[in-house]
Amino acid sequence: MATLEIRDLHVTVEADNATKEILKGVDLTVKQGETHAIMGPNGSGKSTLAYSLAGHPKYTITSGTVTLDGEDVLEMSVDERARAGLFLAMQYPVEIPGVSVSNFLRTSATAIRGEAPKLRTWVKEVKETMAGLQMDPAFAERNVNEGFSGGEKKRHEILQLELLKPKIAVLDETDSGLDVDALKTVSEGVNRVRETGEVGTLLITHYTRILKYIKPDFVHVFANGRIAASGGAELADQLENEGYEAYTKGGASA
Ligand code: ADP
Ligand code: MG
Ligand code: MG
Repeated sequence: MATLEIRDLHVTVEADNATKEILKGVDLTVKQGETHAIMGPNGSGKSTLAYSLAGHPKYTITSGTVTLDGEDVLEMSVDERARAGLFLAMQYPVEIPGVSVSNFLRTSATAIRGEAPKLRTWVKEVKETMAGLQMDPAFAERNVNEGFSGGEKKRHEILQLELLKPKIAVLDETDSGLDVDALKTVSEGVNRVRETGEVGTLLITHYTRILKYIKPDFVHVFANGRIAASGGAELADQLENEGYEAYTKGGASA
């Protein structure tokens, strides 16, 4: 079983001509088949963790390690991370003008599998997965993220997740901006992937509501650039009732 290990990760960004440390020693292990939720207040560094795992150039790793089955993820290019089995869905996905969803998915699948998926079965698989996410088939011909609504962006992420079958998936605020019906549909997609037992999921969220549909095995409270507490699903219930205040005292989290 694949294991993603984050050890004592420190990350800085340049902002207003100053270097600011955002991640201050993150420790986390996610195994294939497990579902983890990272919950925390706005500005605590959750997206910075996702961007750092994705290899975004704005984020500088100053110390610590990230490995996937012992392989150094931080040394890998963005493509190599995907081929190694990492899937990263960002809070604000980028537009890719001139590239259709359909082409994008097939190109991604080809890159990750090392060979082009067989056209007949692939087309069927895409169709069925889209139907499961209640997506109009015409959506496949639209350009990636161009003019997508919040809900369409998130469905498109889960479509990728279901088709690309990564070992470890990091989903940053997949629940934000969704109405209840879309939230349910997106959650069902995540749960289908989960039921395969072959994907480890790191669900990053600000709100507890998605956890009504996706029951995490582990919940981590993120505050001031590190994990402040870890527990089971009951920790999410506690956060729902009590908020993050107990974890942010004395910190600069806004
Ligand atoms: P969260 O996702 O938990 O809301 P973020 O990781 O987005 O938190 O942000 C954490 C802190 O890092 C914030 O103070 C934010 O302003 C800062 N930050 C994150 N990314 C950048 C960036 N690219 N440039 C400058 N500051 C950043
Ligand atoms: Mg935020
Ligand atoms: Mg964020």
